[in-house]
Amino acid sequence: MQSFGARLGDPGAGAHSRRGGAGPSDHKALTIDGMTVMVPVHTAPAFASLYFIEAPDGSGRSRVLREGRAVGEVSFPARPRFYDLQTVDGIPYSRIALLHGGDVLATTVLQSCVRYRSRTRTCRFCAIGQSLAAGRTLERKTPAQLAEVAKAAVELDGVQHMVMTTGTPPGRDRGAAILAESAAAVKAAVALPIQVQCEPPDDDAWFARLRDAGADALGMHLEAVTDAVRQAIMPGKSEVPVSRYFAAFAAAVAVFGRGQVSTYILAGLGDTTDDILAVCARLIAIGVYPFVVPFVPIAGTPLEDHPPPAPALMAALLGPLADMLADGGLRAIDVKAGCARCGACSALATYERGRAAPGDRA
Ligand code: SF4
Repeated sequence: MQSFGARLGDPGAGAHSRRGGAGPSDHKALTIDGMTVMVPVHTAPAFASLYFIEAPDGSGRSRVLREGRAVGEVSFPARPRFYDLQTVDGIPYSRIALLHGGDVLATTVLQSCVRYRSRTRTCRFCAIGQSLAAGRTLERKTPAQLAEVAKAAVELDGVQHMVMTTGTPPGRDRGAAILAESAAAVKAAVALPIQVQCEPPDDDAWFARLRDAGADALGMHLEAVTDAVRQAIMPGKSEVPVSRYFAAFAAAVAVFGRGQVSTYILAGLGDTTDDILAVCARLIAIGVYPFVVPFVPIAGTPLEDHPPPAPALMAALLGPLADMLADGGLRAIDVKAGCARCGACSALATYERGRAAPGDRA
């Protein structure tokens, strides 16, 4: 379903779906066998998907039909209670941060990006400006606003960790400074593990500053792994070479620890399975968790008509990757906060759970 998406019998069921914004989007959280996954529901492939999810019955469960035949059941995480609150100046909390997956608070601290202002430089999969243009979010969330919402999300909805991402501002720190002040404010208000996400900053000293401010984990996202695909898909961001990412990863792992630094890799943009697995092997060797997710063709982006990866491609990636992670001693459940720990945008954690520890395999 993460590849094909799904049609919904009741689009209003559960917490509201996510449209636009940074990272994978146009999807909705579903719980399958106790595991929460994000499934595209607003993309063109989703509108034509083989899968149809019926409106919930009286017990809150929905049948999943594939070409009319029932193949399973899902439920929808409930709408979080913090969505009903607003700041003293009248800003709804849901414009400051959202519930992701089942227990993650997620925010884009700065909802604009130096790379998004130019059609020739923007990452072609990104919709960071869409939710802002639609009035669903604020351009800049202040540290005080983030702290207020985080405290409420923990107290009212039992949120377990927080993801803070950011568009890339013009400065050389690539957003690390605003992430540090935001993490510090949240940590001062509530005990909540935090992952911060940004491009590699100009100075590796930012990693210790982020940790000291309260960040528990760090994401720096390659998105694509080969130069040709990076240049075609991310004309601006690819000016930061993969070699700089690897240098930054090594410096960050020294600060945050093995397995607490991660990177998003989008499958289906043109990198081959071998390309992706070869880079994952290098990442795991230095202690970086490669979070490989299926590319989602977000409506309104230049890649809205790009096909999502076939389920067979994802299986060919995630099976071997789960073995490599087990051999390298990296596990999603050991990541203190963030996307790798949440896991809802990929089936990787499901593959991981089926893997034996090294030495247990023949
Ligand atoms: S994996 Fe990351 S982007 Fe996806 S739902 Fe979880 S926190 Fe959000």
